[in-house]
Order: sequence, then structure tokens, then C-alpha cells
Amino acid sequence: MNAEIIAVGSELLLGQIINTNARFLSQQLAELGVNVFYHTCVGDNPDRLKEAIEIAEKRSDILIFTGGLGPTKDDLTKETIAKHVNKQLIMNEEALHSIKLYFERTKRQMTENNKKQAIVLEDAHIFPNEHGMAPGMLLDTEKNKYMLLPGPPKEMEPMFLKYGYQAIRTLLKEDDVIVSRVLRFFGIGEAMLETEIEDLIDAQSNPTIAPLASDGEVTLRLTAKHKQMETALSLLGETEEQILSRVGEYFYGYDETSLMHELIKQIKEQKLTIACAESLTGGMFQQEFTAVPGAGVLLKGGVVCYTNEVKETVLKVRRETIEEMGVVSRQCAQELAENIAILMNADIGISFTGVAGPDELEGNPVGTVYMGLSIKGQPTRVEKLNLGGTREAIRVKSVKYGCHFLIN
Ligand code: ATP
Ligand code: MG
Repeated sequence: MNAEIIAVGSELLLGQIINTNARFLSQQLAELGVNVFYHTCVGDNPDRLKEAIEIAEKRSDILIFTGGLGPTKDDLTKETIAKHVNKQLIMNEEALHSIKLYFERTKRQMTENNKKQAIVLEDAHIFPNEHGMAPGMLLDTEKNKYMLLPGPPKEMEPMFLKYGYQAIRTLLKEDDVIVSRVLRFFGIGEAMLETEIEDLIDAQSNPTIAPLASDGEVTLRLTAKHKQMETALSLLGETEEQILSRVGEYFYGYDETSLMHELIKQIKEQKLTIACAESLTGGMFQQEFTAVPGAGVLLKGGVVCYTNEVKETVLKVRRETIEEMGVVSRQCAQELAENIAILMNADIGISFTGVAGPDELEGNPVGTVYMGLSIKGQPTRVEKLNLGGTREAIRVKSVKYGCHFLIN
């Protein structure tokens, strides 16, 4: 079975919004083993939508629409499909009831056109909308299958996960259990990681191994299928073990975690406090740290020491260090880390000093970063990085390397 995702909405064509629905659905369908050969995007225009449907029907088994299920005049998806497949549009009492409840709950006035959202295609299987009003639906005709989903991702994604996913599995007549797990790696490039496990990727069909890289991190999504959950899980476990036996030193966590989350977990377990001196990262480390709920109490405080003056007067970096070695130096990173820990009375002091670009500094090329790490009772360590990418990428990666430096 192959699928085509048809995103409906003129905003998409005008570049006002990005088609994240296509990305989400493609990822989900890949997990289900359904091939997606086409993404189509069409405006709120019934003639062009009809044309898109006719083309899609010829080349795809299941057409998945997102958008255009709302109450306004430009929402035309249901109407256009109904006409095209020769089905009636009928009022769905259950959907109407839940729309009424939605208005009661949000204490707003229901208007006549809101009722339009409870109208569904005759013979379609209905997906309740638990995060909005318009229900989704699946129409299974002899030739093609049509799945209609609302446009807003916060309605579409949970609806697909709860109802659409299972509906597709039923269409596939598959009662296998699907389990998946994401393995997260840092400190190894995507190409290198893939080379290390190339034979596993090539040989594996169950579980499948899907690599993805972003901002210096690489993830592998393993997906296994089997009639029995236990067997599916043990298939996953076996492959995971093989992967980690080769690249385990770069592995740092599962699924939705991040380096910062792992770091905070560790600091919390060890009952430590931290302080941070940030030059090129300008507060990003502390911003990310405090974004994690409950992490605030572990961070004593920090200083954004962007200028040499602040490095010298507030953080007491020695004048000789600045004049003789420069601020982009091992010595400066060391003094910053040690002095911020003292200044904030923290167990750990971490520092970032370097060149984010666009221009080089003190003869150091863009991407040169020194991180200092001072932990109570241990000799201070300094690590030098040579990072690539834009100014922003260098800053983002510095923070990640900082977390990684601390975790190890
Ligand atoms: P509503 O009831 O909110 O009108 P709808 O099903 O009619 O929902 P649209 O009117 O097409 O959907 O889109 C509503 C909003 O959903 C858009 O303004 C946009 O924010 C978001 N949206 C629509 N399509 C997509 C898409 N393909 N990717 C990401 N966001 C989308
Ligand atoms: Mg709409």
C-alpha cells in the first residue's frame, strides 16, 4: 500500500506556514511500513483540489488530506471529496454533540457555521476530535481510501496517533505490534556512525534502523514488528545491543531526552550546584538549563562576560592572561571556570570562551571554543573545540558540548 499526503491550504502556498503535517505523517507512515511516494500541496480552491485528487487516485492507494475541515467558506475539503466520490454529506450527531460541549466548556457562543464541522461523508469511519471541533474520517472505497484530518497540528497529530494509525494498520490487515525506540548519540558524525553500523542497517528489516542528524547530534530510530509484544521488544533489544557494542561510547540516552536533561539528572543525583561564565554563548547555557522544570535550584547563577572588561573586573581573569594569552585561550577558560564557581559559591563552574564569528579573534579561526570545567576537589579541566557552521550553530553546539563535557 502506498500513500499520498495532500495538504490543503493557501497559506502553505503563500509560505505563511510550513507543512509540518506532511513531515509528521510521513514519519508515522514510514514506521507503519507504508510507502509515501508523493507530497502534494494545494490551495483552498475546489477545482484545483479536484484535479489533485484525480492525479493522486491514479498513483496512490490512500490519500491523506490535512486541512480545510473548518467552519469557514474556504474550508472545502469534505465538500470537494464528497462530490468527487459521489457521497452525501450527513450530519453526525455525535460530532455535533461534542462541538456543543466544546463551546460550553470554553464558554463561547456557537455560531451556525460551526455546525458545518459536524457534517461528515456518508459511509466514512469517524475519528473524534479531542483537541478541537472538526472530526476526522476515513472513507474506504473499492478503488481508493481517503483519510481526512484537520489542519491544526495540535488537533491532527493526537487524532492520527489515536485513531488514524490504528485505522491504517487495520487496512494493512496487520495485527502485529509495532514498537520503536530512539537511541541518541553525541560526539560522532552521522557519516561515521553510519559507516560503523552500515552492515546492520543493510541487513536489518526487522527492526528497521533509521538515522537522523541535527545540531551535532545523531539519532537512530529502531522499529520492530511482531505478533507478540515480548518478541518485538527482544528484537529491538538485540539490535540495540549490537549497535551499542560498536558505538556505545557516544550513546547518551533514549527517546525524548536531551543532553541538558541528562546533565541535570546527573547533577541532581549527585546533589551538586553549578555556576556558569558565558562569553560566546551569551547566556544560552543558562537559558537551556533553566528551561527544564525544577532545574533552577541547581543553578546558582552565572555571568555573561562578553567583554574583556567584565572578564577582568567581575570574573577576575588576570590581566596577564588577557594580554599574553588572549581571551580565547586555555588559561582564560580555566580562570573563568574556577572564578565563577568561587563567586557563586557553587560546586561546579563551567565556562565558554571562543569565536562564534563571523570574524576571527586574536588570530583564532571562527569555531575555536575553549570550555573550562572546575569541580570541587578536582583539578580544573579545559577542552578545546573546533566547531563548524554558522554563528548560531557554533553557539548551539558549544552548549551541547558543554553538557557532554560535564556528563563524562
Ligand atoms: P480550522 O477548523 O482551524 O479552520 P481546518 O481543518 O479547516 O481547521 P485549515 O483551515 O486548513 O484547517 O488550517 C488551520 C490552521 O492549521 C492553519 O492556519 C495552520 O496554522 C494549521 N495548518 C494547516 N495545514 C497545515 C500543515 N499542512 N502543516 C502545518 N500546519 C498546518
Ligand atoms: Mg479552516
